[in-house]
Parts: sequence; structure tokens; C-alpha cells
Amino acid sequence: MDIIKKYEEIKEGLGQGVRLMIVSKNRTEAEIRPLLEVGHRLFGENRVFEAKDKWKVLKEEYPDIELHMIGSLQTNKIKEALKIFSSIDSVDRDNLAKKLSQEDIRGKSFLIEVNTGSEEQKGGIFPEEADNFIDKCIYEYHLPIKGLMCVPPVDEEASPHFAFLGMLARRHGLKELSMGMSKDYLVAIEQGSTCVRIGTSIFGPRNS
Ligand SMILES: *Cc1c(COP(=O)(O)O)cnc(C)c1O
Repeated sequence: MDIIKKYEEIKEGLGQGVRLMIVSKNRTEAEIRPLLEVGHRLFGENRVFEAKDKWKVLKEEYPDIELHMIGSLQTNKIKEALKIFSSIDSVDRDNLAKKLSQEDIRGKSFLIEVNTGSEEQKGGIFPEEADNFIDKCIYEYHLPIKGLMCVPPVDEEASPHFAFLGMLARRHGLKELSMGMSKDYLVAIEQGSTCVRIGTSIFGPRNS
């Protein structure tokens, strides 16, 4: 099994204290199954309805699956999202944080996504607003914020973005750093990543 071989290889190279989140967006149930069979449980998806369809049956079979939302979350999909995801890693704006705090979020965790490259089309709180937003999520909305996530700009060196995210997390006493994807996860680990999010390097190129 090619996917499993890739998976084992990547996992071996991660070192202690770094979790592997397999990003299963655009992948079929058949592609995901072998990974569940070898015991992997942590997955990331970026769309609520895609995740719901795909994971409903799988979660019945494997109740200990840990599914994280890593894509932009619309406020009208919050309730659905909280049904399937154990963590929302893309909390990135005030109205989303506020609405999440009004739901039953027992047992859930959250990360704040920071748009470290200040890219207009991308999700994530802008760096200059991040300190205030993090404080607000923790002290005003009382969300259980575990850490930060970022996706650096594709055409820039990732390392400074990871370093910035690490500094921001330390300043707020946050432990989790979700950073690093297929092409830059080793750099992210050097910068203190606690969770790398990998799709392509395990499954191969995405179709859609
Ligand atoms: C798609 C995606 C990934 C995985 O990217 P690969 O390059 O396929 O490893 C990681 N994080 C987020 C937020 C994504 O949307």
C-alpha cells in the first residue's frame, strides 16, 4: 500500500511531541480507510458538508476519530460543524468567536488562525489585530483556545511566518502550534510546530 508507506515514512521523521494531522479534503472514504485500519485517528477537513457526508459512517465505525476543521467556517454552519468536529482550528474573526461562545462547546477545543502574510483573499486574523483578538477569545468569550494555526503565503519563505506564530503563541501562553504542510513541515518543526497538517505528501496530488 503506497499511501501507508508514505504515511509511515512521514510519521517516523516527525520526532517527539509533533502530531500528524492527515488532511483528507477531496479524498474519498476508500482512500481514508487504510489509514484508519493502521490506527491513525487525527484528520483535518476544510468544508463542513464534505466532512459531514464522508465521515458520518467512518465515525460510527471508529468512534475515537479526532476530526478538526481547518478551513474557513461560515457562521451559519457553526451548529453542523460542532456536531462533527472536535476542534475548530480556524477561529479567525470576532463574530465567529462570539457565536461559538454561545453554543454548547463542552469537550471542544479551538485554535486561532493567524493570516501571517496579511493576504486579502485568505482566512485568518491579521497580525496587527492578533493580540487583541486572542485576548478577547480567551477573556471575553471564554473559549478554550489551545493555540494558533497559520498557512504562510505560497510564494514566500515559510520560516519567518512560523517564527512569528511561535512568538505570538508564547506571548499568550498558548501551547499548540498547528503549522507546516507537505512542502514545509520540516521547517515548521524546527520552529516549534506541535501539529503538522499533511495531505499531498501522503495521498498524492489532489484532483479537484
Ligand atoms: C489543504 C490543506 C493542508 C494540506 O496541504 P498539503 O499541501 O496537501 O499537505 C493543510 N492545511 C490546510 C489549512 C489546508 O487547507
